[in-house]
Amino acid sequence: RVLVVGSFNVDHVWRVAALPAPGATLSGSYATGPGGKGFNQAIAARRAGVETRFVCALGEDLGAQLARTLCSNDGIDLRAAVVADPTGTAGIYVDAQGRNCIVIGAGANAALAPGHVADALADVTAADVLLAQLESPLGAIAQALDAGRAARATAMLNPAPANVAIDETMLVRADILTPNETEFAALVGRHVGERIEADAVASLDQPRLHALCRELLPHGSVIVTLGASGCFVSHAEAVPRGDTAICYRVPAEPAQAIDTTGAGDAFNGALAAALAQRPDSAFIEHVRFASRYAARSTEQEGAALAMPRLTV
Ligand code: ADP
Repeated sequence: RVLVVGSFNVDHVWRVAALPAPGATLSGSYATGPGGKGFNQAIAARRAGVETRFVCALGEDLGAQLARTLCSNDGIDLRAAVVADPTGTAGIYVDAQGRNCIVIGAGANAALAPGHVADALADVTAADVLLAQLESPLGAIAQALDAGRAARATAMLNPAPANVAIDETMLVRADILTPNETEFAALVGRHVGERIEADAVASLDQPRLHALCRELLPHGSVIVTLGASGCFVSHAEAVPRGDTAICYRVPAEPAQAIDTTGAGDAFNGALAAALAQRPDSAFIEHVRFASRYAARSTEQEGAALAMPRLTV
């Protein structure tokens, strides 16, 4: 089973010729749909074929109804706290060059309480995989990772978005950390005290990447996702079952990518699903599955609703 703790948003997307300047009134084509890293990852885990629970906070509004309907359509076990704030939203402008400008109204997501998480995860077992991101209050995330670790479940932390700072006490709670290049550069800056540019991460050599990962998470595994360049995997000294190296690169699966939004969410959800479904397989096989799954997700527009049905 995969237990995802995180955000649900209603995304409002406007395609405009140019991003708005102060005082401007523009018109553009509009689309709406579900989002939020937590929800995207829960959908990915579920569509990768594993029993999935999604723990979040919702308001009492149309956005909450959307979340309930979509979870029910996909067979996700939704454990939502109902709070007074509106369901989370994201306002997204995309210009003709594909550049974007995003405003997030965290709303109910910011009211996810540790007590609700504790109740929703009271039955965690060692066979479960716990997956959290940083779009929820840090107290709730810490509670989620602790519930997982107390039950000897696998605790995965996707440290996204990059601008949310966490401290060492959060890192020690994770068995697996999955930053993208930007998040990795931010973590290295804060925790290792070294400045590296996000776009230089993919070209760092393997021993260097491994050393930085070891400083970040001495006890666990770090997977740095590198977009179309695949990912880098670094394990603690003990090599997991079936793996032969302590660190390695896994190339991206070839894809006819048309929209890479949510590729990281696809990767995280699918990796959690693979870990939960096939605990006896080699770690590298899980990473290969997640890469395959994420590549397929880029071949359709959108994030949550573009998650492929491709089972572990
Ligand atoms: P994020 O969406 O968080 O920025 P990445 O861009 O690193 O995450 O993508 C996550 C994973 O998705 C990559 O490690 C890779 O496996 C896959 N992926 C991303 N972009 C592509 C692409 N253009 N072609 C194939 N796979 C991709």
